[in-house]
Amino acid sequence: MIPANFTYHKASSVKEAIAKAEELGEEAKFMSGGHSLLPMMKLRFATPEHIIDISKIDGLSYIKEEGDVLKIGALTTQTEMEYSELMREKYPIFSDAIKLTADPSVRNVGTLGGNIAHGDAANDQPALMFAMRATIIAEGIDGTKEIPIDEFFHGFYMTALEPTDVLVEIQVPKAKKGSGGAYHKVERKVGDYATAGVAVYLELDDAGVCQEIGIGLTNVSAVPMRVDRAEDLLRGQKITEDLIEQAGVIASEDCEPGSDLRGSEAYKRSLVNTITKRMLNKALERANH
Ligand code: FAD
Repeated sequence: MIPANFTYHKASSVKEAIAKAEELGEEAKFMSGGHSLLPMMKLRFATPEHIIDISKIDGLSYIKEEGDVLKIGALTTQTEMEYSELMREKYPIFSDAIKLTADPSVRNVGTLGGNIAHGDAANDQPALMFAMRATIIAEGIDGTKEIPIDEFFHGFYMTALEPTDVLVEIQVPKAKKGSGGAYHKVERKVGDYATAGVAVYLELDDAGVCQEIGIGLTNVSAVPMRVDRAEDLLRGQKITEDLIEQAGVIASEDCEPGSDLRGSEAYKRSLVNTITKRMLNKALERANH
């Protein structure tokens, strides 16, 4: 299928993009890599009258640590994250997820900002954002907004972004001694969206007690989700095998998968249980390294 007719606009700055979106109204959509938007348009699930291409705006592609946070520019591609030395060394949870996202040709253009702004529970990167307690930075008509990830996803393909908001940066806490994270998804074949995926990020103190933990799930609910109950169980504890078993069961109970071509509800719950336990063990191993 080919998309319905649309008018193409190109913005060379965030300010220009916001002004264009305000002028064109709700029938306009921003485009970064286009690798989620264009497939939706080809299937006629999305029929925007105007596309505002923001992919060539300078200064929105970077990965850097500043103060207590890791900052990732919204236009940073998945390939740039995959090959970032900083991420490989200090944030392997990103490498885990990017390697399992689509295929290299998609990753060359797909951006982190687009992956999150799309609001799709099947995308891999939102689960990482829950695990790492990300803050989403957006620029809009009224200036800069800082949106905690727990307030970002509003529903099926719906986010806290207004039609005139440009997501410009993602911030996560800087890796410290004793922190570690891991992500894995089960997919039917290489390049497929997740049947189920789990991200875990935790911080241990010198005595090995879990000070903070995040657990995010992929494609087992209408919106990307966090497993609060399992986090609450593990926070403040020395994480034992027994607690890991309990956390896996809780994650499998609290996710909300539907049966579809990727598997039955029961199969997906069982996957969430198993992957949660494995990712907890892997994150612990990395935190103790
Ligand atoms: P776009 O397609 O440009 O935009 C997506 C949405 O976000 C649009 O609504 C757009 O208006 C909005 N948007 C984009 N950027 C911004 C911004 N800066 N501010 C405000 N709004 C913005 N993803 C996975 O996670 N896992 C997979 O396994 C996977 N498999 C794929 C397989 C194929 C064959 C394809 C084509 C894609 C796959 N994807 C997968 C999606 C891919 O990762 C996308 O590139 C990514 O999700 C979206 O990034 P983008 O830059 O292409 O966004």
